[in-house]
Amino acid sequence: MRGPERIVVAGASLAGLRAAEALRDQGFDGELTLIGDEPHAPYDRPPLSKAVLSGWLSTDHTVLPRVRDIGARWLLGTPATGVDPRTRQVSLADGRAVPYDRLLIATGTRSRPWPERQGGALHGVHVLRTRDDADRLRAALAAAPGRVLVIGAGFTGGEVASVCRDLGLDVTVTQRGDTPLGSALGGVIGGAAARWYRDAGVDLRLGTTVRTLEGDAHGALRRAVLSDGSVVEAEVAVVAAGALANTEWLTGSGLAADGRGVVCDESCRALADDGTPLGDVFAAGDVARWPHPLYPGQLLRLDHWDNAVAQARTAAHNMVHASRAPLVHRPLPAFWSNQFGVNLKCVGLPALADQVVLTQGSLDQRQFVAAYGRQDRLVAAVAVDSPRVLDGYAALIEAGAPFPPVLNATDGPDRPEPLDPAFPRPADPAPGLPSVAATPSVPSAQAVLAGHE
Ligand SMILES: Cc1cc2nc3c(=O)[nH]c(=O)nc-3n(C[C@H](O)[C@H](O)[C@H](O)COP(=O)(O)OP(=O)(O)OC[C@H]3O[C@@H](n4cnc5c(N)ncnc54)[C@H](O)[C@@H]3O)c2cc1C
Repeated sequence: MRGPERIVVAGASLAGLRAAEALRDQGFDGELTLIGDEPHAPYDRPPLSKAVLSGWLSTDHTVLPRVRDIGARWLLGTPATGVDPRTRQVSLADGRAVPYDRLLIATGTRSRPWPERQGGALHGVHVLRTRDDADRLRAALAAAPGRVLVIGAGFTGGEVASVCRDLGLDVTVTQRGDTPLGSALGGVIGGAAARWYRDAGVDLRLGTTVRTLEGDAHGALRRAVLSDGSVVEAEVAVVAAGALANTEWLTGSGLAADGRGVVCDESCRALADDGTPLGDVFAAGDVARWPHPLYPGQLLRLDHWDNAVAQARTAAHNMVHASRAPLVHRPLPAFWSNQFGVNLKCVGLPALADQVVLTQGSLDQRQFVAAYGRQDRLVAAVAVDSPRVLDGYAALIEAGAPFPPVLNATDGPDRPEPLDPAFPRPADPAPGLPSVAATPSVPSAQAVLAGHE
């Protein structure tokens, strides 16, 4: 059987670039087109909320290194506006149509904006997803505002607040839940994170939402009114309240896609809305939701760097070698964050857990490992300032090891006591901080969303 002659990648960022490189590695020598709505060459997002905001790195230095020459046609600054799987064409905002034999959807996510139009349009109200966002926010912080308000204490919110404190700026963080990072890591570890915030001098308002953002006569942000009636005077606000999948352009295409992502199977083939896999349309990266073999009964979407790279490579392999046994995408979820002077690394999916136990170190000393269990099996581990030990936990999770794990670590507690991890109840999720939610569109499946925000 003849292989594809024209491959189109929609979304020219981490997953799109790594897929393009992998396609060439797999021997694809046909026409390769990358379509990106941003004007920039692919760049790395994790530094945006860390080294870029702090001023250590300019966004010019976030360009992703190229692993190999891909000999591609680049259509940058050109949003894809639709796809017709019947005629196999992607339409572009400038009216052109690009034909394909195989299409990879890698359009990622965007920050959930401030929901109210007037408040969201005020000068000084920011989100952080793109390098343009980072340049704007960096300039706003460099102008030494009197106070910065961060809305949401997930990973992005924590990283922004941490950089603000490093820059000597006063910061207020609002969080609807009882702790920072509660949806991702639960209230036990979130409680430790709350101490990191407060020790760094952050004014942390838990169990609190922002009711309105108010500006002056020139349309510049001046204050926020919180749900408890208090007022925070701030010239800069950063909305860090979760992400939405970039799938609007797929409306009417017949693909199973909505604001939660593009549904695909475990070999990255996109599904039609009747649940049938398409042989010529694939998805990878933050935009993709799929049934992970390690977590049966779930549809997973991971807003994680490692996953974007691994899924792009699996998709590329399967796009080129469709007739052979397809590869299955089954990575152990993994991500990291740096905030308030600690390095946090996670493997597995804490949000699935019904128990957590401290296995090494101490919460108070900010150096520890916590293991998460579900129905007496180890499902995740979080290491704070102890990154080297995580590989061992990852192997145990993959092997389906019992919980609590038997480690005999020299820095472990004498009698580890499993606790309720204290995740927000599913019926009462923190807004914009994705956790576990029912998805009516896919029968007998749940969606697990694990995001950097
Ligand atoms: C500030 C920040 C910090 C992060 N830090 C970490 C971290 O510490 N650790 C970690 O594991 N992960 C982190 N992440 C997450 C990580 O960056 C993402 O998982 C990764 O970028 C996903 O890559 P992607 O290619 O799937 O999606 P994206 O990087 O979102 O790229 C998708 C691209 O498609 C474009 N696009 C959208 N719609 C269209 C369209 N219709 N037509 C054409 N192009 C389109 C988008 O503009 C974008 O350029 C962070 C993310 C952010 C924003």
